[in-house]
Amino acid sequence: MLTYYTYVCKKCNQVYYGPKGETICIYCRSKDDMITIKKAEYDRLIERDAWLNYLEAAGVDNWEGYDFACEARRIDEAKDNE
Ligand SMILES: [Zn+2]
Repeated sequence: MLTYYTYVCKKCNQVYYGPKGETICIYCRSKDDMITIKKAEYDRLIERDAWLNYLEAAGVDNWEGYDFACEARRIDEAKDNE
């Protein structure tokens, strides 16, 4: 089975699929601003982003657990920066 990889250009933000090993953006020809993730992971992230948009549109920032989540994130990020 042929595995397709998802490429995201950090310079022009274009997304495309291709075989493993692409190193040059097919849109802007940038060589250095590419990341490679498996298509399944890309699809999962897009799905999570779509769901987050629904949650935000529904006012998740007014939810009582939102401040707790913000604080937990702040603590984790502080640990990462130690
Ligand atoms: Zn590009």
